Amino acid sequence: MIEIDPIAGLAVRARAACLDLARLTEVPGEITRTFLSPPTRDVTAYLSAWAAELGLSVRVDAAGNLRARREGPSPDAPTLYLGSHVDTVPNAGAFDGVLGVTLAFAVAAALRDTPLPFALELLAFSEEEGVRFGVPFIGSRALTGTLEPLLTLEDARGVSVRGALEAYGLDPAELPGARVGGPSVGFLEFHIEQGPVLQAAGASVGVVSAIAGQDRLLLDFVGQASHAGTTPMAHRRDALAAAARFAVAAEDLARSVPGLVATVGVMTARPGAINVIPGEAHCTLDIRHEHDPVRAGALDTLLADARRFAGERGVTLTVTHKMAQPAVPMAPAFRGGLRRAASQVGQLAPDLVSGAGHDAMILADVMPAAMLFLRSPNALSHHPDEMAEPADVEAALRVGVAFVQDLAARGGR
Ligand SMILES: [Zn+2]
Repeated sequence: MIEIDPIAGLAVRARAACLDLARLTEVPGEITRTFLSPPTRDVTAYLSAWAAELGLSVRVDAAGNLRARREGPSPDAPTLYLGSHVDTVPNAGAFDGVLGVTLAFAVAAALRDTPLPFALELLAFSEEEGVRFGVPFIGSRALTGTLEPLLTLEDARGVSVRGALEAYGLDPAELPGARVGGPSVGFLEFHIEQGPVLQAAGASVGVVSAIAGQDRLLLDFVGQASHAGTTPMAHRRDALAAAARFAVAAEDLARSVPGLVATVGVMTARPGAINVIPGEAHCTLDIRHEHDPVRAGALDTLLADARRFAGERGVTLTVTHKMAQPAVPMAPAFRGGLRRAASQVGQLAPDLVSGAGHDAMILADVMPAAMLFLRSPNALSHHPDEMAEPADVEAALRVGVAFVQDLAARGGR
């Protein structure tokens, strides 16, 4: 008789389920599933069937999140939450978000007959990517009671978040019932890395130390447009030259500060003619780091540079700060638990920073939160060729199961 390792089988199923769910799309021929689009119902049905097989109770909360629950040993037992999101960007890959959901189900399946001192709740968030309403984390915000202020936001067709919920058959008045109630152990999210760090380290999985903080700014440089042939260099007020110096300074600084990333993603110049000195230049800055003081110091340096580059050219500079999001460190106890679990199952699990936001960042406001990243082959994500290797999915599942067992042995601490 051949012994089949149940965890290996569950890892295969978790990965196969991502490919099944990839067929549930609003655009035939690609994977596109925005917030509360029709295929969301099929995703809910698919996961509900899996939950029923595991003996879990299922509900869809007022934000459209699917919540599958295994009760704890007593009504006042705390809850351990596992999950990620099931919406996608347009023309997405099969694994971003979804793999964190199917791995959560696989963990619950692996521990089906193991007594636990806490309840388990599996979360499939309805919205994380921010595609439909331009604001991300609509699903996870419902759990922290921070969705209500966004109900009046409108999508491109003028439908509000409230209207979208109602059209789907949900009742926004019931949002308070979606909040996390009662004591929680914490939240663990599995997610593909979407970057090159684990591949370079030769590791299947990694433990997220923090979700990087970020600032987003607009810089408007205004000089004077004039004739490119008749205006000597000393008489110019070239706004684009100042902005270009700024873009290079941002790159130079980020290259010199470990962990800092800085990007000038948009640069426009006016009037935009080959023989006219640019009188206006407008650019953006996106700057991120795991430690807020490092990010703040770098931003101060870059803005001083920008003012200098402008001043040297007689150009004025206006800076608009569009967003400042502090870094969110992951819970030290959960990080330690993930490291212990990884070493127990023989996985190298280096620490790494998440440069992107995730649902764990939202839930970290109300409970200990942690993330386990899986290697992203060729760092490809938000693309149809996005991948997760079977061996890496199995490694993540083994770490996840060992983590929950370790947590149970410590009484949920
Ligand atoms: Zn994601």
